[in-house]
Amino acid sequence: MITCSNCETPQFLQITQSRVYFEDGEMINEISESYECTLCGSTGQYVYDEDHDEERVSGDVELTTERPKYA
Ligand SMILES: [Zn+2]
Repeated sequence: MITCSNCETPQFLQITQSRVYFEDGEMINEISESYECTLCGSTGQYVYDEDHDEERVSGDVELTTERPKYA
C-alpha cells in the first residue's frame, strides 16, 4: 500500500499518472504510478519491477506492507 509520508495515510492520495511498460510487445515488466496527496500537496512515484519482483517508491510517499509479520 502507498501512503503519504507527510500525512501517514493513503486516504488523500490520487494517481496522477500511470504507465505500464512492455517488453517485446507482450510482457508487462514494469508499472509506474505517480501520486499526489490532495491534502498536503506532496507528490511521489511508485514503481513495480516485475522482472525482479521489486517495489520502489520515491518522493513523499511511503510503501507499507499489509502482510502480517508472522506470516
Ligand atoms: Zn499528504
